[in-house]
Amino acid sequence: MLSLPAKAAALPRVPRLVGPLPGPRAQALIARDEAVTSPSYTRGYPLVAARGEGCMLEDVDGNVFLDLTAGIAVTATGHAHPVVVRAIQEQAANLLHMSGTDFYYEPMAELAEALSARAPFPTAAGRPRARVFFSNSGAESNEGALKLARYHTGRQQVVAFLGAFHGRTYGAMSLTGSKAVQRQGFGPLVPGISHIPYGTHASLDYLEDKLFPTVLPPEEIAAIVVEPIQGEGGYIVPEDGFHERIRQICTCHGILMVVDEVQAGMGRTGKLFAIEHWGVQPDIVTLAKGIASGLPLGAILSRPEIMTWPAGSHATTFGGNPVACAAANATLKLLEAGLIENAERMGRVLQAGLGQLADRFAFVSASRGKGLMVAVDLFDAAGNLDRERRDKIVDLAFYRGLLLLGCGRAAIRFCPPLVVDTDQVRVALDILRQIFEEQ
Ligand code: PLP
Repeated sequence: MLSLPAKAAALPRVPRLVGPLPGPRAQALIARDEAVTSPSYTRGYPLVAARGEGCMLEDVDGNVFLDLTAGIAVTATGHAHPVVVRAIQEQAANLLHMSGTDFYYEPMAELAEALSARAPFPTAAGRPRARVFFSNSGAESNEGALKLARYHTGRQQVVAFLGAFHGRTYGAMSLTGSKAVQRQGFGPLVPGISHIPYGTHASLDYLEDKLFPTVLPPEEIAAIVVEPIQGEGGYIVPEDGFHERIRQICTCHGILMVVDEVQAGMGRTGKLFAIEHWGVQPDIVTLAKGIASGLPLGAILSRPEIMTWPAGSHATTFGGNPVACAAANATLKLLEAGLIENAERMGRVLQAGLGQLADRFAFVSASRGKGLMVAVDLFDAAGNLDRERRDKIVDLAFYRGLLLLGCGRAAIRFCPPLVVDTDQVRVALDILRQIFEEQ
């Protein structure tokens, strides 16, 4: 018979390494894993996670790390937040699955109501602000948004951005403009998608002045798909007025503005939806990652008049699973009870500390980002972006108990759980300072 494990002792709030990394259990597990899992995974340093609590992560050998990755910007409320864990346990004990495509259950309706009430769309008396479709991932949310935009407008063309990451299923991969390895060998992709550079007015000039009159009539464009802050592409904040101008272009030509909030959304930037920083109201928003604190869930929010597809046209067995929705309902309450505010506050502490490091070390760029979606670039002696140095620093951080991720060409990204506190930010900055001093 299975027995419940005894409640483990609380983890320390700072890194604690008990031996050389990777330890013996980690080495054994990595050998087993690598013998049988897909070689397409992109593992870097040898972390074998066993237990998480807040911003701390323990590996299988008892080493404790400070986690500024949140499992790639997912565990918004921290690892195993007790309120989220309780919501999952209670829901799991009552109903694990019944498929929201064909039946009804409360956690899904409750979450759709909550997201609809908060969607960054116009309000109108007597109707919801948004309709919501639930998926299982970011890729699926974007896949569905692409279908919805084409279906609703009856148009086929779509504009996306170089450097964008929207996922790896065929539609999402076709929107993605990030790395050649993500496309190479997989063609033909979904046709009708054009990519332009991200974040600049020059790029939108090119779209309007060069592409519209020649190869891409705006009357044939269903959607412009854009990240509010480009995530995998390097945590790039666009030029002032960029999103406002996309909104204008879309409104002028009947194009739908689709904002991919998979990484930037759910409070990470200090607002529930990152696009709110620009006061822009899109037509469709896609979500995933942080929405359910680690359970697989994604969502498409659309203005109600746009979600016109008929019964049977789009659905998925697991999307909006009751346990994932219960986790998301608990997550949303925690975000609004202080974590979004904390993201904004801790983001300022983090950026101030990174600013000091940039002043001191010439090979570190000024920091950029909003809230707890922050990055710095690493340069070589000649001032060029230095991917190797970035990778080395991310590795060295692991061996000192700090978990980081790269993004873009040579950026270190900081996307901790939104429960991170000032002491933990300072510990992370201190570890980085030590590593920078040794460069
Ligand atoms: N959209 C954005 C902005 C992302 O950052 C990601 C993943 O990194 C995705 C979509 C794809 O999400 P998933 O990996 O859940 O399919």
